[in-house]
Amino acid sequence: MKIMVSACLAGENCKYDGGNNRNEKVMQLFEENEVITVCPEVMGGLPTPRAPSEIVNGVVISRTGISVDREYRTGAEMTLRTAERERPDLIILQSRSPSCGVRQRYDGSFTGTLIEGSGVTAELLKEHGFRVMDVEDL
Ligand code: SF4
Repeated sequence: MKIMVSACLAGENCKYDGGNNRNEKVMQLFEENEVITVCPEVMGGLPTPRAPSEIVNGVVISRTGISVDREYRTGAEMTLRTAERERPDLIILQSRSPSCGVRQRYDGSFTGTLIEGSGVTAELLKEHGFRVMDVEDL
């Protein structure tokens, strides 16, 4: 099986704070599958570490008040292109991220409040018919 995963789940230090979200279930997938890692925010040109961001009225804004929408959407497009080229059977993404979140994301108030909805990359991948799963459902 070919599986695409959020790079931070595979231990890559691409998270906004310079850390990762290493997940042992994801690591086990490497044993019997072809696994491709992607980090949409890095692919979109953002540095690591970077300010955390949320989607505010449909626009991705950093906590410092700067629009990073173009970088986030560029990263989503590049991830989509990678998926179209690689044709993964399954895409497993990190929860609640403004890029990778599948079921939930923060509401744009920077108060830790969650709402139903996806990050911009997960949304784009779903729109194009890819099978996308939240890592918490793995
Ligand atoms: S954009 Fe996705 S892969 Fe990159 S650090 Fe955030 S959750 Fe992980």
